[in-house]
Amino acid sequence: ATVAVPLHPSLWPQPAWPLPITPAIEHRIDALMATMTLEEKVGQTIQADIDSIKPEDLRTYRLGSILAGGGSDPGGKYNAPPKAWLALADAFWEASMDTSQGGKAIPVIWGIDAVHGQSNIIGATLFPHNIGLGATRDADLIRQIGRITAVETRTTGMEWTFAPTVAVPQDDRWGRSYEGYSEAPKVVALLAPAMVEGLQGKAGAPDFLDDHHVMTSVKHFLGDGGTTNGKDQGNTEVSEAVLRNVHAAGYVPAIAAGAQSVMASYNSFHGEKMHANKTLLTDILKGRMQFGGLIVGDWNGHGQIPGCSNTDCAQTFNAGLDMAMAPDSWKGLYTSTLAHVKAGDIPMARLDDAVRRILRVKFRMGLFEKPKPSQRALGGKFELLGSAEHRAVARRAVRESLVLLKNNHGLLPLNPHARILLAGDGADNLAKQTGGWTLTWQGNGTTRADFPNADSIWDGFRQQVAAAGGEAELAVDGNYTHKPDVAVVVFGEDPYAEFQGDLPNLMFKAGKSGDLALIRRLKADGIPVVAIFLSGRPLWLNREINAADAFVAAWLPGSEGAGIADVLLRGKDGAPQYDFHGRLSFSWPRRADQYANNIGQKHYSPLFPFGYGLRYVDHAPLAMLSEDPGLDPMAARSNVWFDRGVSATGLTLRLVGANGVANDVIHPVAASADGSVAMSAINTDIQEGARLFAFHGEGAVELHANTPLDLVRETNGDVFVVARLRVDALPLDSKVLFSAGCGDGCSGT
Ligand code: BGC
Repeated sequence: ATVAVPLHPSLWPQPAWPLPITPAIEHRIDALMATMTLEEKVGQTIQADIDSIKPEDLRTYRLGSILAGGGSDPGGKYNAPPKAWLALADAFWEASMDTSQGGKAIPVIWGIDAVHGQSNIIGATLFPHNIGLGATRDADLIRQIGRITAVETRTTGMEWTFAPTVAVPQDDRWGRSYEGYSEAPKVVALLAPAMVEGLQGKAGAPDFLDDHHVMTSVKHFLGDGGTTNGKDQGNTEVSEAVLRNVHAAGYVPAIAAGAQSVMASYNSFHGEKMHANKTLLTDILKGRMQFGGLIVGDWNGHGQIPGCSNTDCAQTFNAGLDMAMAPDSWKGLYTSTLAHVKAGDIPMARLDDAVRRILRVKFRMGLFEKPKPSQRALGGKFELLGSAEHRAVARRAVRESLVLLKNNHGLLPLNPHARILLAGDGADNLAKQTGGWTLTWQGNGTTRADFPNADSIWDGFRQQVAAAGGEAELAVDGNYTHKPDVAVVVFGEDPYAEFQGDLPNLMFKAGKSGDLALIRRLKADGIPVVAIFLSGRPLWLNREINAADAFVAAWLPGSEGAGIADVLLRGKDGAPQYDFHGRLSFSWPRRADQYANNIGQKHYSPLFPFGYGLRYVDHAPLAMLSEDPGLDPMAARSNVWFDRGVSATGLTLRLVGANGVANDVIHPVAASADGSVAMSAINTDIQEGARLFAFHGEGAVELHANTPLDLVRETNGDVFVVARLRVDALPLDSKVLFSAGCGDGCSGT
């Protein structure tokens, strides 16, 4: 159910310097559009995935763009060589320029998720994911990373990256938290424009959008990091002020830096899908924020709008979307969109605005004047993929991103002459080190051979310890051959992307290596332990932090694992080579149930606050932390929407368990409802003994309020229903979904 939340465009910020609309380009667009058929115009507004379209299709269907999504896989294997990608870029470009079957030559533009380096291409330099970059607070470094990502992307022929993500994640259970720079709007506002400038070149300068740069897509507009319960693609129910001040913080500076595209988000705002939100897409983004580039949809995002399907959706275009990402649905969407324009369901002026914006960015990039991708400045220069210069910048980024949370007795920095054991399943594991969006969508299924230009964390230690005359040993399971002087245990989350990374709470789910037991076993042998934690977010793991003598949050550092040894090992002269620099860009939870509050914003008493990070000069030891994860009870919240002046007579709470929620683990202990306008206070007096029974697949239980409710509303509005649930032993990959509904006169969500 949706409720209209009035938005006030005039309250929204404006960029200090919107990229000017130049008459020379607009005249060229006018001239071209005057000759285009309706079919060609509609074609420009649609983007297909390379797995679902052949180059020759572009001879008939003059689509504006193609993409390679996270799972797209030319040749059926994700590790297709760079030259295969470039050949494909040439083939699509040639088809778009071929007029033998009629139509105008309009160069197709290829978009791809180069989100932490050109992360789809084997051998590319892989930078830390954004959460790690946020910890650096270093805009110049981020600008260089953007430049390098653009250069490596251009070698394989793509001109457009779906980056940067400027989400401001407020609930770390969200599986995309690591794609955001920070939970703090000011950090996002600092780093997003730097990344845009690095990727695109400086707006107004001669190199802007040239062949050494790529177009950006600032994403996901708007409120992706503010969904209730951190649910990916969920509902963002914050106030207009929070949406504007927190979640929109990156957009205005990115637009001022010349960002050429913005991607609409999958999430809803108070129940309305962003792909259908005309006020935000048109009135605020294009109007108030003076965004002159194009708005692209997310992967079949239009198909999620009520009344739409992947192959049919006039609503999204009418709301202001310029290009629909219709990966596998492009043909159907093309046909239905054409029919909608002919029938007048999509006004001609709206179509023309979309086509104008798409052509504008193509002209700004000079695409009409360019030869095929392989013949442009960087086409085929594969020696730049993972070049020494690029990797050096990535290694510096790793050094700057590390956050030291504990260093009792000054265990760090380590003496490289010592006997050092590297243990834990992350010690020599490039998949774990690089995370999601790396060669595959989820970042899993890769092997060491897929990372020819990379150092694992172990590689870095091995090289530097050997050079200093020390002795390093790798034993993932901790079974050393000679007793080490110190052990470095590297462990953390396994790779994930998008909703597959959503969590029910912030408990760290230990890896196969049994990390806690491993740390404790080494400690029992009298070996000091340094823990290196690889993760896409802060997680509750107080037992591991307690067990280790030193603890480093290393995020998802990418291909340059050697950056970790750089900071952890002393140099030849015995002094640290580098000090720690990173500061938390996300606050670290004290308990496993600390996440966003009910308005989708984080504010709680953290274990380590935002901005925390030790240096080598800091000597205060970290005291023992509570080992109680604090998961009991947990609150769940849902909204019920009421129509004007209607009385509801019943309230139903529905709990749905999935993935092996065991018998009797969820006990609803209390429930209450509260509204934003006057209404009688309610205590639903949940029946004692109600239980969520064993669902090894999925199942549900409905809890009925004992007392009938009398919810008389004078105006449209929402009632928050809060249930407190006691959870005894919820398996970590299980989920309990909570929703509230009612009898007559109201609609529940
Ligand atoms: C993601 C986007 C991404 C797109 C293309 C979607 O599932 O939400 O962030 O750019 O896929 O791969």
